[in-house]
Amino acid sequence: MNPQPALVTSLYLHVPFCAHKCEYCAFYSAVPKEDLVGRYVNALVRELELVAHELKPRTVFFGGGTPSLLNLKQWEQILKAFERLGLLGAAEWTVECNPATVSADKAKLMRDYGVNRISMGVQSLDERLLDRLGRIHSREQVFKSFDTLRAAGFANINVDLMFAIPTQTMDHWRSTLRDALALGSEHLSCYEVIYEDDTPLFHQLQAGEFDVDEELTEAMYEELVTTVAGNGFEQYEVANFAKSEFPIPHSPFPVPSQACQHNVNYWRGGQFHALGPSAAGYVGGVRTKNWANTQLYCEQLEKGVRAIESREELSPLARAGEIAAFGLRMNVGWGFEEFNGITGYDLRSEWSADMDLLVRENFAIRSENRFRLTHRGLRFADHAAEKFLRS
Ligand code: SF4
Repeated sequence: MNPQPALVTSLYLHVPFCAHKCEYCAFYSAVPKEDLVGRYVNALVRELELVAHELKPRTVFFGGGTPSLLNLKQWEQILKAFERLGLLGAAEWTVECNPATVSADKAKLMRDYGVNRISMGVQSLDERLLDRLGRIHSREQVFKSFDTLRAAGFANINVDLMFAIPTQTMDHWRSTLRDALALGSEHLSCYEVIYEDDTPLFHQLQAGEFDVDEELTEAMYEELVTTVAGNGFEQYEVANFAKSEFPIPHSPFPVPSQACQHNVNYWRGGQFHALGPSAAGYVGGVRTKNWANTQLYCEQLEKGVRAIESREELSPLARAGEIAAFGLRMNVGWGFEEFNGITGYDLRSEWSADMDLLVRENFAIRSENRFRLTHRGLRFADHAAEKFLRS
């Protein structure tokens, strides 16, 4: 008899709606049409039913898009489905929220069903820059929403920030950092603005409406790392910083206790189901991607089948290379034994020359048991990660 496959402990759900499209955004999301949101919620619940028997969620993450855009009734329908399918009780359950769409009743409902972490898309606390990015929320709404979430009992909140925004000066960045830290969140994610193809910001850059100042960007990153370290945060990934409020038992590597466990699972090569339009999952060595089309997604689920656009099974070496690349984004890098246990490959044989090159470039440190990126290496983690990819 074949052994039962291990249950999947990590679950991502994509909500593909936003009130307005931000200037820099390349995620799959759109301003919702009247009846599509209700259809989507039905379809998402149907997809959840189709995979529920393979799940025992330890981490759940609702991302988007703007999950907080769903109304109370729609949230109730989703959360009741989790309950009916026996999927409540995740140790970490995150919902991404836009500060303009947080409400006390939604926050209470989520807490009642076990959501225990909120990720707030703040991006900036400067009204002019929020406008520049096309965000719908105001600085005032950030403070108000944060209080609403705390009052509802959320003790683990992430604040997302962006730097190197066109026209942002170092003074703007310092003052956003100072005000964001004053909120007292447990986690910070800070991303440099990226110019993705086909975004309005990319076209503005191409048209010469502004320049990218690499020196200022680097200085902003340095300011970030130094300032947050002085305020009780520990960097554990290129763009992620968390507080440590208690020791994590049974962790094979050190991370702060408030680190996002859902993302840590990605970076360590763990498997996860991903539901919703455009969502990409990885289960049993197979990478899947759902159609990035909400209409089509609904039609498929209404027929009772998952809306999977592509399935790809990577060779074991290609998958190991990808896992190496993801994991190097974390400050701990890879312990050689840990990597071998996960992938079956030894970094010291397959990637020895690549590691030595990165050490010579001052991008990495190699010890007897571990390989990790330096401060400089983390800043250019994509360059380092590329060296580990295999076809
Ligand atoms: S709120 Fe987030 S997902 Fe929506 S358009 Fe803005 S950046 Fe993209």
